[in-house]
Amino acid sequence: MRLVPVWDAHSCVPLLADYDLSSLQRHIDCGAYYISINIGMDFTPLADIVQIIAGYRKCISELDFLLQVESFADIERARAEGKLAVSFDLEGAVSLGESPAMVDLLAKLGVRQIHLAYNRSNSLAGGCHDKDLGLTAKGRTIVDSINANKLFMDISHTGYRTSMDIMAYSKQPVIISHGNPRALKDHSRNYLDEQLLACAATGGVVCINGVSRFLSDAHSSATSMVETVDYLVQLIGFEHVGFGLDFVYHSGLDKGPEGFDPSHWWPPEHGYPSAGDGSSSTYFAPPERFLEMGSLFEDRGYTQGQIRAIYGENMYQLAQKVWS
Ligand SMILES: [Zn+2]
Repeated sequence: MRLVPVWDAHSCVPLLADYDLSSLQRHIDCGAYYISINIGMDFTPLADIVQIIAGYRKCISELDFLLQVESFADIERARAEGKLAVSFDLEGAVSLGESPAMVDLLAKLGVRQIHLAYNRSNSLAGGCHDKDLGLTAKGRTIVDSINANKLFMDISHTGYRTSMDIMAYSKQPVIISHGNPRALKDHSRNYLDEQLLACAATGGVVCINGVSRFLSDAHSSATSMVETVDYLVQLIGFEHVGFGLDFVYHSGLDKGPEGFDPSHWWPPEHGYPSAGDGSSSTYFAPPERFLEMGSLFEDRGYTQGQIRAIYGENMYQLAQKVWS
C-alpha cells in the first residue's frame, strides 16, 4: 500500500513521565512524519507537566526514529530521513498561571500549539462545556504571547464566543487541531459552520479527529471520517482541512492527578459516560485509518494532490508560515 505523508496535529500518549514513546512507531508505519502530543490539560498540575516534558524529551532523544521539533527545519529533516518529528501541545492554559512569559518557556521546551480552555472556563477563556464569557483581558495577553512565540493558536475545546473572539484577535492564523463539524454530529465540543468558516478566513486549518463521540459513527469508521472531511472541503475548501486524530495510545494507563473528577471535565450532561460507568462508549480511530481512507477519497474523485494536502501538506505549509 502506498503511504500518504501524514501530519497528525494532535494525538495522546499517557501523561506519564516514564512512558515509552517507542509505541509511536505505529504512526510512522501509517505514513506520519509529524505528530503533536499532548503534555497536559487544564486539570494537570504544572509540576506534572514539567516532569512529563522532561521524560518525553529524554525518550525522544534516545529513540532513533523520533526527532524533537526545535524549529521548522526539523520537520524537513524528519520527512527526508523517514523519522517522526514530535512536538508538544498544551490543552488549556491554566498551568501558565496567567503569565505570558510561561509561553516563552514552554516554546523553548518543545510546545508548538496551545488552546486556552479545556472544556471548562478559566480566567483566560471560555470552555465549550461551560458558561462562556469570551476571551478575557488576561487571555488576550496569552494570545499575544502565543503569536509572538510563533506557536499555533488553537481553539479546540474552546467555547463558541471565546473561539470567535480569538479568531478576531489573533494576528496569526488560528487552527482547530482536533475538532469536527456540528452539522454532522450535534455536540457542543463540535463546531458550527460559522466557526469553521471563521477559522479558514484566518488562514487556518480545521483538523478532524477520529473520536466516535464527535462523529456520526460509533466505531469512527473510515467512511464516517471521509464524510466529515468531505463536508469541510465543501464548506471551506480542501486547503483548510487536515487531521488531528486524537488517538490515545495505551488509554487508561494514567488515572489523572489526585482528586481528579472526570465528570467535571467531561460532563455526563454533554453525553460523556458518567463516573463508574464501566462500559466506555468512546472509540478512538487508530492511525491505521490513514491507510484505509485513501481509496475512499479516490472513490469520491479527490486528486492525489488534494489527498496529500489534507493528509499533511496543508498543516506543513501553515507551520512553515507560522513557525518560521
Ligand atoms: Zn483534546
